Amino acid sequence: MQLNLQREKPTCNCGVFGIYGSQNASLETYYGLHALQHRGQEACGIISKNISPKGNPHFSVHKGEGLVTEVFDDHDIFQKTLAGNAAIGHNRYSTTGAANSLKNIQPFSVNYRLGNLAVAHNGNLTNAKQIREELVNEGAIFQTTSDTEVILHLIARSRLDDQVDQITEAINKLEGAFSLVLMTDDKLIGARDSHAYRPLVIGKLNGSYIITSETCAFDILSAEFIREVEPGEIVVIDDDVLRTGEIKSFHISETTSINHCIFEYIYFSRPDSFIFGHNVDKMRRRLGKVLARNHPVYNEGDEKVIVISVPDSSNTTTLGYQTELEKLGVNCKLEIGLIRSHYIGRTFIQPGQANREIGVKIKFNTVKGVLEGRTVVLIDDSIVRGTTSKQLVKLIRDANPKSIHLRISSSPITHPCFYGMDFPSKEELIAHNFNSNIKDIAEYLGVDSLEYLTIDEMLEAVSEAGRDNFCHACFSGKYPTQVDLKFKKEIYEI
Ligand code: SF4
Repeated sequence: MQLNLQREKPTCNCGVFGIYGSQNASLETYYGLHALQHRGQEACGIISKNISPKGNPHFSVHKGEGLVTEVFDDHDIFQKTLAGNAAIGHNRYSTTGAANSLKNIQPFSVNYRLGNLAVAHNGNLTNAKQIREELVNEGAIFQTTSDTEVILHLIARSRLDDQVDQITEAINKLEGAFSLVLMTDDKLIGARDSHAYRPLVIGKLNGSYIITSETCAFDILSAEFIREVEPGEIVVIDDDVLRTGEIKSFHISETTSINHCIFEYIYFSRPDSFIFGHNVDKMRRRLGKVLARNHPVYNEGDEKVIVISVPDSSNTTTLGYQTELEKLGVNCKLEIGLIRSHYIGRTFIQPGQANREIGVKIKFNTVKGVLEGRTVVLIDDSIVRGTTSKQLVKLIRDANPKSIHLRISSSPITHPCFYGMDFPSKEELIAHNFNSNIKDIAEYLGVDSLEYLTIDEMLEAVSEAGRDNFCHACFSGKYPTQVDLKFKKEIYEI
């Protein structure tokens, strides 16, 4: 059995990257995907646009399963196979479509009436199944089981004569979450759904333009951040834009409500990125601060409370928690109590091996001297199934602390996500199984105390970005758009 501890966190999502107007387009896309590796580790791909000796534009592709460094392990590929001045790329976790199908690795491309077209998608289309059924009834033949493929079909079947008009027409038919980069023979196009669930940002690199998921992909290239793609906006980069510097922009639909995914701030985006108008680092620290204010752990007598994070995703939140706890007058210290191995890759473990404890031990170890005899506050961003948390608590318990207090910088996850984040089924969610009874969850995990942020507290923490501008459906069950709970299963089984 292959160990995938990432799967113990909400997964899915994907990273997208597109660049136009650079002679090193595919190599820069590779670096961009490298920076976005946290958004998808199952597979990745790059499609570049080049001009053939006969003067015709053509698309070249390289995709595979694995990390960016594994799929692109031959550097000649960028000059030989993937030459050209424009490229788009994608890192994948599967949210729809069979996870192990090579055909489902993006970007997808077609050649149709108006030329070549490629797409990379982050999000989840909630009406993909209906659109697909309609198209199949009209004779369309699908190559993949991914929701994203319907976008190419809708564009290719349009009777309009301008590609941007075709893309606009197709996007107007989509429902759900999409941050897209598309590439045609002479354009790079970015599009974001009107609720703006997922991030999408525009940058500039020595005269070329980039559209990507997070600004950390600019930093690796020393590119300049220009702005975010607005909710419901389509942006077009072509040779005119390279000359004039004026990005072409269209709005696909009126924005009725903005519903950024709050999980991007809690866990998913990198803390060094700027999304939804703010630095992720700042928002994550604020989550930690609000957690400390509302759910502090006090010291007894002269003792020092030890605050540790579940690395790496909770490091920033833990900083916020500890500084705020200190401000509350608690004698406390930030410590590194858990060491995480960064080299686990796809580790093999024996089925049924000693309670799967080996799984967590491959990834984490404790610094015993830091924990022994101490009151320990363990900060984590979320609990999904609870299996890893339980093993982690046991690992810490083996270091003989005085007590363990688990603090979670989100609310209990109780509902599925329809907008691109992949949680296990309701029956596998620990909060569902214990009816969100925090005392029972604490007992199951083996901690002395457990506290989560309430939904109000989460919204208070991100309020600088607008309390009402967030989706929190997986915690509250309040979906920003009408969804059919039965449909969830079906979109995974296209
Ligand atoms: S349901 Fe949860 S994970 Fe999905 S978009 Fe909303 S907040 Fe994000």
